[in-house]
Amino acid sequence: MPPKLFIPGPIDVSAETFQAMCQAPIGHRSPAFSELYNSLQPGLKALAGTQDPVFVSTCSAWGSMEAAVRNCCEKKVLNCMCGAFSDKWHDVSRRCGKDAEALQVEWGQIITPEKVHKALSTNAFDAITIVHSETSTGVLNPLPEIMEVVRQFPEVISIVDTVSSFSGMKLEKDAWGIDVMITGSQKALALPPGISLMAVSERALERAKSISQRGYSFDFIEFLKNHEKGMTPATPAIPLFYALQHKLQEIDKEGLQNRFERHSKLNQKVHDWIYAQGFELFPPKEHATKTLTCVRNTRDIDIIKINQELIKRYNFTIDVGYGKLRGQTFRISNMGDETDKTIQELLDSLEVLLTE
Ligand SMILES: *Cc1c(COP(=O)(O)O)cnc(C)c1O
Repeated sequence: MPPKLFIPGPIDVSAETFQAMCQAPIGHRSPAFSELYNSLQPGLKALAGTQDPVFVSTCSAWGSMEAAVRNCCEKKVLNCMCGAFSDKWHDVSRRCGKDAEALQVEWGQIITPEKVHKALSTNAFDAITIVHSETSTGVLNPLPEIMEVVRQFPEVISIVDTVSSFSGMKLEKDAWGIDVMITGSQKALALPPGISLMAVSERALERAKSISQRGYSFDFIEFLKNHEKGMTPATPAIPLFYALQHKLQEIDKEGLQNRFERHSKLNQKVHDWIYAQGFELFPPKEHATKTLTCVRNTRDIDIIKINQELIKRYNFTIDVGYGKLRGQTFRISNMGDETDKTIQELLDSLEVLLTE
């Protein structure tokens, strides 16, 4: 058995979810598929807080992140950068041939609404990318406040990555005025990797229509045309659609509010433990995300060795820091199906190794 994953993605997948995937194949142009596709919409819309269509794309989150930039930026995109994923989005925007500008803050800091206001006031931009929960640093950007600023610039299409917050925190796409909201399957949704979701506004679709060279596989207009028939542009990863259907039923049963509260409580439990152990949070306490904890290694422990022991003795694994933060930080996920019991087991195991 591989170790149980407490890394912030991919995360642990339940036996029930795997079971849901084991169904005979169906044709993706059949009524049975349309029924499956359409059955996902109410649950996804509720999680995103939107009335807009939620496209399901067979790709990882990066596919949709790239799609949004390709479909929504004609003039210039502002990439708000505060960690590995948001930084990379700048590189990806450029690789898509877009004129892109960086709004960079130090890793561990938030993007402030003031900085966004200053940048957008140049009127140079028609799109902006923002990562809500920056998984590499554990920062939760103040999205409603940032969006209030973005909405003062009607030309700007807002593209938001909610990869590690979607379904773990309350999101209000429509109320906050987000045009494109993106997530992946292998983070808080606790599914295997392989599909990605994009909730897309009318405004963003209008923009897409005016843009040439959108390609095919990631074309919003192709997605829309197929969506109206309960289909996807190309052959989708149907087993993952079954997994998502199962997960949405589970989420509905638990209740959205209960699910958000569970994530919040488990996250607080990890926070309390790290402080009791003499560590600190990497992001400012008031801007820490609720689905994972990025810990500053203030005790200067050999976290790489501790994680090896954790795997060997307990068959659990945490993350030992992303990229340049390796060893200086470590990250513990509380996304998906975790419970008070599973988090307690992990913390107890870590505590044994830390006190040896
Ligand atoms: C994991 C992650 C991604 C990339 O997801 P892939 O599924 O690997 O493409 C993007 N953004 C954030 C915030 C993430 O946590």
